[in-house]
Amino acid sequence: MPETVPNNHRRQFFGAGIRGAFLFVLGAATSLFARYTQKEKMVWQIDPSKCVQCTNCATKCVLQPSAVKCVQAYPMCGYCKLCTGYFEPQPNRLNTAAENQLCPTGAIIRTALEYPYYEYTIEESLCIGCAKCVKGCTLFGNGSFFLQVRHDRCVNCNDCSIALACPGHAFKRVPASQPYLLKNREHQA
Ligand code: SF4
Ligand code: SF4
Ligand code: SF4
Repeated sequence: MPETVPNNHRRQFFGAGIRGAFLFVLGAATSLFARYTQKEKMVWQIDPSKCVQCTNCATKCVLQPSAVKCVQAYPMCGYCKLCTGYFEPQPNRLNTAAENQLCPTGAIIRTALEYPYYEYTIEESLCIGCAKCVKGCTLFGNGSFFLQVRHDRCVNCNDCSIALACPGHAFKRVPASQPYLLKNREHQA
């Protein structure tokens, strides 16, 4: 019959069109879902305003050394000669001898600037996240040292074992696109 061929063509055409539209919608939905899930990926981070400087960040992480490291908020630092985050409470002398340092691993580097100012930087590969320097700086200094989960190390456990043990409830989930939290005065600098 002469009309059979065009009808089949039409059906094939519409069939292909519907399949194409379905695949297009499916592709768009997959891409949207991928973007949505990517956007919503969350990681663990420490709210510095809630940390009470216990020692759990050094000992409770599934990694050793811990994925938590000290960081320096330079705009807050006083560049003090007598840094209470660097020196023992009663140092023999204000020099870099190991016996005068608060940090158990020597992870803080003290560099003389124009007198009487000194710069304090953290050598992260040596830091174990013990928070001793954070406590010293918070109690008697400007509070420029604080702890952060380093995401080049953290394996993003579903239940972070430090978060479970944190007495200050300082751990929270943050978007992976903005994985670090700054101290308040850093925002103003
Ligand atoms: S466990 Fe919590 S309170 Fe203790 S040092 Fe870590 S973030 Fe601070
Ligand atoms: S005192 Fe502890 S937290 Fe501070 S730099 Fe040394 S190891 Fe890291
Ligand atoms: S999520 Fe896991 S690896 Fe990351 S800080 Fe917590 S315990 Fe350590």
